[in-house]
Amino acid sequence: MDGSLPVGRYFIMTHHKAEPTGGGSIKTIELLESLSNTFGPSGFEDEVRGLLKKLVEPLVDEVQVDALGNLIGVRQGKTKTRLMLDAHMDEIGFMISYIEEKGFLRFTTLGGWDARIIPSHAMLVRTEAGKKIKGIVGTPPPHILSEEDRQKPYKLEHLFVDIGATSAKEVEKLGIRTGSPAVISYPFEKLNEMFVCGKALDDRAGCAVILKVLEAFKSKMPDVTIYANFAICEEVGLRGARTAAYQIEPDLALALEGTVGADVPEVPSARQPSGLGKGPTISVADSSLIVNPKLVQKMSEIAKAEKIPYQYKIPPFGGTDAGAIHQSRGGALAGVLSVPCRYIHSPFSILRLDDFDETVKLATAFVKRGNEILKSCKN
Ligand SMILES: [Zn+2]
Repeated sequence: MDGSLPVGRYFIMTHHKAEPTGGGSIKTIELLESLSNTFGPSGFEDEVRGLLKKLVEPLVDEVQVDALGNLIGVRQGKTKTRLMLDAHMDEIGFMISYIEEKGFLRFTTLGGWDARIIPSHAMLVRTEAGKKIKGIVGTPPPHILSEEDRQKPYKLEHLFVDIGATSAKEVEKLGIRTGSPAVISYPFEKLNEMFVCGKALDDRAGCAVILKVLEAFKSKMPDVTIYANFAICEEVGLRGARTAAYQIEPDLALALEGTVGADVPEVPSARQPSGLGKGPTISVADSSLIVNPKLVQKMSEIAKAEKIPYQYKIPPFGGTDAGAIHQSRGGALAGVLSVPCRYIHSPFSILRLDDFDETVKLATAFVKRGNEILKSCKN
């Protein structure tokens, strides 16, 4: 984490700034806080990769960064079975597309935003030197809008960021140009002892699950060899996982996600992909993958045997890196396990710490029984 992070910078906060070192046991809350707060929209993952590298190094035998920027840690196991754990490190964000003469910034999206919820949020734009400049996504005052216009949501092409500059020259001098990355950035907070919220729980929650799983095997060699992939560019089309899987050639893969929790008013139960407080979600199918039913069955059996609560994620919503992984080379057996998170793909998402802990337990059990799972899923 660098000093330019938004922790406590724009809001009066009561929490402290976390600095997990990677040595010893990593506290979940500090891990989620530092990962969620770190800047890393799709294609601009360098800062979050740096933090993850520091955290994963003490837990694995080997770490490499590939040509695209995927961070891959290898933990040797007793057998040659290659088990890939994947979580994407990118978050949805923005890219500056055009600078107006008067210094306002136009932008396009990196990943799946609902344009209706972007207006009036605070944005952080990263300069060429790595500094974060704060701006506001401006809107016309309601006073001057006609009744008809007030009913209409803003479209992306009408939006702009106001960073307090008065000319394009001034913006240029700050080091902001076409292509500069940005995020809507609110700092991680504990709502209470159980609920936490942060800007990038999709999918820094998955990254944190992998770190906790690796920690469980730190002093105990796993049966399978673990390839932990922290992928780039999931939010713009599963790009990093595709090439990482090609290199890793996994026998078995598990994507860890922060997934759509929609147990909120106005959403009928049949359209709630998952709910908070019911444990990890096991995916059966989404838009990117139909999970091998034997694998779904086995994952459920493991959860039952370990007394871990779980829920099936209601299909067919969403898509994950497992979609790309299972189609790599000659194909790979791949499943998805997720921490349910409300409000993902918005400026703030919320998860329950008990769901997170149960997901770590089930993912750890999955790794422990990797060879057994493979055997039971043979076609
Ligand atoms: Zn995700």
